[in-house]
Amino acid sequence: MRRPELSSVVSRRITVLGSTGSIGKSTLDVIAHAREVYGAHAYPIEALTAQSNVSELAEQARRFCPRVAVIGDASRYEELKSALAGTDIETAAGEGAIIEAAAHSSDVVMVAIVGAAGLAPALAAVRRGITIALANKECIVAAGDIFRRAIAESGATLIPVDSEHNAAFQIIDNNEGHAIERVTLTASGGPFRDWESARMAAITPEQAVAHPNWSMGAKISVDSATLMNKGLELIEAHFLFSQPLEKLDVLVHPQSVVHCLVSYADGSTLAHLSSPDMRTPIAHALAWPRRMSSPSRRLDLLQLKQLTFESPDLFRFPCLGLAQASLRSGGLAPTVLNAANEVAVHAFLNRKIGFLDIARVVEDTLSADNCGGQGACDLEGIMTADRHARVLAGEICGRVAA
Ligand code: NAD
Ligand code: MG
Repeated sequence: MRRPELSSVVSRRITVLGSTGSIGKSTLDVIAHAREVYGAHAYPIEALTAQSNVSELAEQARRFCPRVAVIGDASRYEELKSALAGTDIETAAGEGAIIEAAAHSSDVVMVAIVGAAGLAPALAAVRRGITIALANKECIVAAGDIFRRAIAESGATLIPVDSEHNAAFQIIDNNEGHAIERVTLTASGGPFRDWESARMAAITPEQAVAHPNWSMGAKISVDSATLMNKGLELIEAHFLFSQPLEKLDVLVHPQSVVHCLVSYADGSTLAHLSSPDMRTPIAHALAWPRRMSSPSRRLDLLQLKQLTFESPDLFRFPCLGLAQASLRSGGLAPTVLNAANEVAVHAFLNRKIGFLDIARVVEDTLSADNCGGQGACDLEGIMTADRHARVLAGEICGRVAA
């Protein structure tokens, strides 16, 4: 492949879906840095979208001057319009407007929406055959085959932003994929890595969202605390790198410095290291196949001194095992797992169920749904399975809470 000039890479037009979230804000931080280093015209912005935070979205829009700012919650439209009065930034609202923004002319779409809500906008971007910087893992888990097929049909380039998968993408030599023996994703172990089971029932949302290494949105912080995040990531790796479950491994690595290790048939293991700072994979994804300056924290191994590794404890963290089992069952099981987890995490964050109930709700939803082996060949089938699983999981949450 011919390497593009760095000046042409940084002049790509970009849309940020979910710009007010943790990944969205880090993306804008990387872009602000690129404008300082490469000039004010770096990464012109086509669209910024958010679900409900009008003030943050309007502030971002005034600073980064996108063509259009979109708010998902249509009831906030007038608020957004008046917050951007006097600018020439267009405004729009509603789910359809977010999908339209994803499908409109840009060279790169950063998908930083949380949850399966990112699926339709991500697919709209994929179908345009452009570059997708994908932070949202739930859409791959919910609809991996459909995603893969859409990419093959459109010729879109998908750069994973999730740190482990971005690391794997950097390591994996696609020409030698046949020689991969193992892909190992690391997990920090979350805030409760050392906790005894007896203490875990009383874990509060505040404790669960206080991650030791990464600063992230609430949902992924809870997923990291239950290890469901690593389960979702195994499924994500399966679809992104076409690796069977038997070749996908998880190692707990509390320092979060080694993100992924890929082992080859000749005995080589290649690892990717960086400080736990999402601005590194974001900058990689935005500049690929070149590399550009990023404001992320640099790695200092002398200061760290030790990198340690241990096996995950599937007894205290059953969500990881549930995710592995769903991938083994195949069909719609990962779709159901993801939907049930989203409902359970939401209920936990709203203090309706306890921390340990999250795994119970997911497990009971998977059994009640009886979805293993069934497949959906189109988006509508996935959406139907997702909706059905959410209703079931909601009922199960209600029973658990009673
Ligand atoms: P977040 O909760 O901080 O932000 C989510 C963003 O999505 C917000 O801008 C919000 O307005 C928008 N959004 C929420 N619901 C929406 C809906 N229904 N429709 C449209 N937009 C909606 O989340 P985050 O931590 O930035 O994570 C975003 C995604 O990236 C998740 O899928 C997460 O798993 C993944 N990810 C995050 C990190 C991280 O460090 N935060 C790391 C790896 C992967
Ligand atoms: Mg990750």
